[in-house]
Amino acid sequence: MSDEAQLEKLAKQIKVCTKCELHRSRTNAVPGEGPTHAEIMLIGEGPGAREDEQGRPFVGASGKFLDQLLEQAGVTRADVWITNVVKCRPPGNRDPLPDEVEICTSNYLQHQIRIVNPSIIVTLGRFSMSLFFKGAKITQIHGQMRKVEDRFVIAMFHPAAALHQLSLKSTIMADFAKLPELLKEARAELGKSTAKGKAPKKKKMTRSK
Ligand code: URA
Repeated sequence: MSDEAQLEKLAKQIKVCTKCELHRSRTNAVPGEGPTHAEIMLIGEGPGAREDEQGRPFVGASGKFLDQLLEQAGVTRADVWITNVVKCRPPGNRDPLPDEVEICTSNYLQHQIRIVNPSIIVTLGRFSMSLFFKGAKITQIHGQMRKVEDRFVIAMFHPAAALHQLSLKSTIMADFAKLPELLKEARAELGKSTAKGKAPKKKKMTRSK
């Protein structure tokens, strides 16, 4: 089966998944989306209300901010694979529970990562960060690229946190602005060519008033 077909098969399974309690309150599960072999994969926490309505990741307010952050790094949404730790909205936007994270990541996210095989994973928020850096503090490691097995992982603050805490806004913007350079570094280290596409252009950083 092709990688594309495997991702589609996982998406179909996710949409009808009843493996944990989160399925009871969801409207739509949100498998994730992007080009099959994207160089960058973004992993958020879990769908919010808008995502639950539409079945697509990061389409609400934090998604709009994420689009700006990507644009500033010279990357468009069409270049990246975007998904979440858990694929169904936790009721009332509560934190996902440890067993929900375990069930969802072992059945779905880990397979999505293996198939897409990105050079860089950007974790958005602490739940996603903890999958790769157990016990790490996001305030200490955000924006740093670290090798994890055969790829690189960069922990970033969650865009929603930056929307609610203005002091984080410039931090997350500065971290995203480093993406093109980090991608070049990752390619060089992994011995990957730029054949899949040109390195994203670095854009001038603009701060919103
Ligand atoms: N927040 C997330 O973590 N993921 C989404 O898809 C939307 C908001």
